[in-house]
Amino acid sequence: MEFFRLINEATSIAIAGHIRPDGDCVGSCLALYNYLLENTENKQIDVYLESVPAAFSFLKNTENAIQTAKQNVTYDLFVALDCGSIDRLGFTEELFLGAKHTVCLDHHISNTRFAEYNHVEEDVSSTCEVLCGFLEDAKISKETAECLYLGIVHDTGVFKHSNTTRRTMDMAGRLLEKGVSSSKVIDDSFYRKTYMQNQILGRCLLESILLLNGKIIYSFVSQKMMQLYGAVASDLDGIIDQLRVTEGVEVAILVREEGVQHHKVSMRSNGKVDVSKICCMFGGGGHKMAAGCTMNGSAHDVVNNLSAQIEHQLKGYTTE
Ligand code: 5GP
Ligand code: MN
Repeated sequence: MEFFRLINEATSIAIAGHIRPDGDCVGSCLALYNYLLENTENKQIDVYLESVPAAFSFLKNTENAIQTAKQNVTYDLFVALDCGSIDRLGFTEELFLGAKHTVCLDHHISNTRFAEYNHVEEDVSSTCEVLCGFLEDAKISKETAECLYLGIVHDTGVFKHSNTTRRTMDMAGRLLEKGVSSSKVIDDSFYRKTYMQNQILGRCLLESILLLNGKIIYSFVSQKMMQLYGAVASDLDGIIDQLRVTEGVEVAILVREEGVQHHKVSMRSNGKVDVSKICCMFGGGGHKMAAGCTMNGSAHDVVNNLSAQIEHQLKGYTTE
């Protein structure tokens, strides 16, 4: 795909990610924004994100540049990053539909190829890694490198998920050479938790339930609990990973109540189960080992439906 031909030809560019943006989404959007700002002239470049978790606020231009509501602009080019389907764009969907040209760079296996030009590398760790492949090394500043490094760190779970390849490490190494402080990015954006976040993590672990002879671990966060702690969705980041590393577990499920009979589901697999397949069945998506969806019904129904699918896949796995 001629990504840079489209960028060069455009005088107004919108960059946006998915709703409830995570590290890879924020990192890739800000990396492209900073890169273009630093290396191009006479272009209007805007970056749109629904919200940015406080832990990412040290990235360059997080504080002043990000637009959280759509402007009345018809862009020459709309670049969607880390977004698997058009409905995940959220408030920027209208800008996408109105833009003269659209591009999507992504790595979700469930990507629906919704843009005019789609570049999806399903086996690549992160959108930041995909994007890094397009950028000229000499033009990447320390600040842009920091954004890319943060995204890679988050989507690889600090270089430990199976999506971490030699190329991932090579790219991360090149970013370190730009002067990025690895320990600062990893500690400040990934491991550091507020007291409130740790309290919720503790409760989720304490109240977790094992199903299917310990192959599934499940935890639930009610709206009441979110209100009690004054928490937002991103305050739960990392909880699912702690559930997943429980010995004997194949799949971890975290269910967050969003409304009456309305639940946000996060799933993580340890390898045998393709959780993206399951989340796609329920209108969501993601990756083989990390996926999500939104489901209606009681939390009990949600878990029953999900565990039936997990059981089905595990049966197929053992008889293969
Ligand atoms: P998380 O559990 O961290 O929210 O999401 C895990 C992965 O699944 C991420 O790559 C995320 O983009 C994707 N994902 C989560 N929820 C949804 C959803 O409702 N729809 C789609 N298409 N993907 C989702
Ligand atoms: Mn990603």
